[in-house]
Amino acid sequence: MTNEKKKPVFKKIAASGAGKKLMADHFYELDAASKSGSPKVAWCTSVGPAELLRAMGFLVYFPENHGAMLGATRAAMDYIPLANAEGYSPDICSYLTSDVGSYIKGETPLSRAYKGIDGVPGPDVLVYNTNQCHDVKDWFMWYSRKLNVPCIGVESPHNVDETTNVHMNAVSKQIQNLVPILEEISGQKLDLDRLKEVVGLSRRCSDLWEEVLKTAAARPSPLTFFDSTILMGPAVVARGTQEAVDFYELLLPELKQRIEDGVAAVEGEEYRIFWDGMPIWGKLRDLSNLFTELKTCVVASTYCNSWIFTALEAGDPFDSMARAYTDLFIVRSEQAKQQIIEEMVKLYSVDGLLFHDSKTCPNNSNNRYGMPERLVKELEIPSVTISGDLNDLRLYSEEQSITKIEALIEGIAQK
Ligand code: SF4
Repeated sequence: MTNEKKKPVFKKIAASGAGKKLMADHFYELDAASKSGSPKVAWCTSVGPAELLRAMGFLVYFPENHGAMLGATRAAMDYIPLANAEGYSPDICSYLTSDVGSYIKGETPLSRAYKGIDGVPGPDVLVYNTNQCHDVKDWFMWYSRKLNVPCIGVESPHNVDETTNVHMNAVSKQIQNLVPILEEISGQKLDLDRLKEVVGLSRRCSDLWEEVLKTAAARPSPLTFFDSTILMGPAVVARGTQEAVDFYELLLPELKQRIEDGVAAVEGEEYRIFWDGMPIWGKLRDLSNLFTELKTCVVASTYCNSWIFTALEAGDPFDSMARAYTDLFIVRSEQAKQQIIEEMVKLYSVDGLLFHDSKTCPNNSNNRYGMPERLVKELEIPSVTISGDLNDLRLYSEEQSITKIEALIEGIAQK
């Protein structure tokens, strides 16, 4: 198989330029607000109540996105030891440790990417949701103590089979309880119509993002998981805005055109893989090249699907936000997760499963309670588990992972 190696062809997606511009505008807007003090800036966890914050006039900054940048630029390893020295263990979330470490060192990849930005935007409030994990609360509490900024949020249920009204009511009530505190910080009253509008935009963004991801069900697929980890940027940082909707309205037709023209993201696509767990941010390009050489497209993932919020309803903002935030894959029980993966494997015609056992993110490593074994038995397709990490490349067994991935594809080829 390796005898036929050719230099991988990277097929640029034309709309990605608009995505880059949206990201630049997002960071410059935050930087200007941070410097002038207006509008107020809220830091928010990835599936925290961003719609509410936006509706109340805050600009929203997502530290996990910054964590991913630290991983993608391979700067994380310079900063993690600084957080470790403050007592934050090398075993906890490496987004947290690299982000806190970069703050201690006074450096950010934003400065290198965007001329004139010399630091992350200062927060007026820190707002978390523990739906994904508890590390996010500990992360925000570090900044709360350091910067003397209020830290408020939502405590979510975990291990949920199905989101019931009991779950939804408990979360919805907590989101509503944030309103008076946020009104005091922002100095403006919540306008319910504006909230409905933002929730509507967020739902539209989510629907478009879902359609984008589903284009990969076509054979050959017009995009890979590695494309999607970049293209998801606007859904991550700008959900609830018209700009995010505009971006996906531009991207989607391009991907549909690719399908019509038979344009494959991976030239000569032969095999199709599902990626479970976190990306290995510092190795995206290398892994993308490896799969391309193996004529394999990573067509679907649980990670990129985490920004699909089909429960959002403009007419019922609080309850629908609560339901959407709790329906999230990471919140669900093993049984529910297995069912979701099984459905995705069928939808995307997947030939094999890859589980990324991310050392510092047990919350989003789904190989630890027998899931791969159950899926292999149920679906009769092979699986492989690689050891790595989202940000800390010292924890990534590269050679061993490549050998395992090549063996997985060989196994599929011989079927
Ligand atoms: S889900 Fe994982 S990567 Fe995300 S904040 Fe929690 S521990 Fe970190």
